[in-house]
Amino acid sequence: MPGLEDLYREIILDHYRSPRNRGELPPPAVRTEGHNSLCGDEIQVYLAVDNGLVSDVKISGQGCSISQSSASMMSAAVKGKPIAEVRSIVRRFKSMMTLEEEETAEADDQNVKLGDLEALQGVVKFPVRIKCATLAWNTLLQGLDEATA
Ligand code: ZN
Repeated sequence: MPGLEDLYREIILDHYRSPRNRGELPPPAVRTEGHNSLCGDEIQVYLAVDNGLVSDVKISGQGCSISQSSASMMSAAVKGKPIAEVRSIVRRFKSMMTLEEEETAEADDQNVKLGDLEALQGVVKFPVRIKCATLAWNTLLQGLDEATA
């Protein structure tokens, strides 16, 4: 029987090989871009916000399996969700990616289900890869700020 680590590796590889929501969105969708120079990862996030919802999200870019699979899982996790819930998911994910107590976490965040994203929790043991895993998320946050400004 495969262990949890193997299962997590499978989930990460599946999102890397078959990335979800790959592509671009035309304006007025917001486009933001993130780079992780430590690893060479590049992510572009296209974000369409409509009626308080993230109505569509597309991802393009290239990089290591951690950065690209994290972006794919993120797109699947936030698409169609209310903006407040998306911000909650982002906070939950980023707090999973840190060894410190997250002082900005709110009570509601504890109810947020990360699903496949939990496959990335092992990354926290490899500090150099944390930037890979969080790149898409920081890029998404920028886009959210722009879209809701
Ligand atoms: Zn990387």
